[in-house]
Amino acid sequence: MSLNGETKRKAYQTAYRAEHKAEIAARNKTYRAEHKAEIAARNKTYRAEHKAEIAAWNKTYYNNNPAPYINRVRARKQRLSMMPSYTEQEWQLVRERTPNCVGCGVLLSTVKVHRDHIVPLSKGGSNTIENLQPLCVTCNLSKGDKDMAEWMAERRVVRVSKRGMTEEAKA
Ligand SMILES: [Zn+2]
Repeated sequence: MSLNGETKRKAYQTAYRAEHKAEIAARNKTYRAEHKAEIAARNKTYRAEHKAEIAAWNKTYYNNNPAPYINRVRARKQRLSMMPSYTEQEWQLVRERTPNCVGCGVLLSTVKVHRDHIVPLSKGGSNTIENLQPLCVTCNLSKGDKDMAEWMAERRVVRVSKRGMTEEAKA
């Protein structure tokens, strides 16, 4: 293609995108909804492969914008302090009853343990012992703001798509 042709093609594409903005946005939205698990898996791989880069970027970002993060942590602490809570003793009992990570089954005495809110506080979960479970740090970070059912369903889909549907056939 000549240089002129290339310029024309680019101009055409720009014009097309401008004219079909809503359509393109809708198409992208549908794609994301239909390929949720795939996209999540792809993002996970990307994050795993670019760990150091992402950490460096986050650090720079945080150093330049510490206020929103600090405020968020403060607000969460404040919210927690107003809620009904649990005792350390209750938590210890849960820990004794749950030697393995609820998410992946790893022996919790060998990893860093997080206190996970089964229903996240952000989704109206309570800060009481019934809503707490021990997760390994990897599972907890992967679960994030999802509730248990959502997270398990998502993990199952990712697992199934990775194994080429064999799990689905067995289920
Ligand atoms: Zn785990």
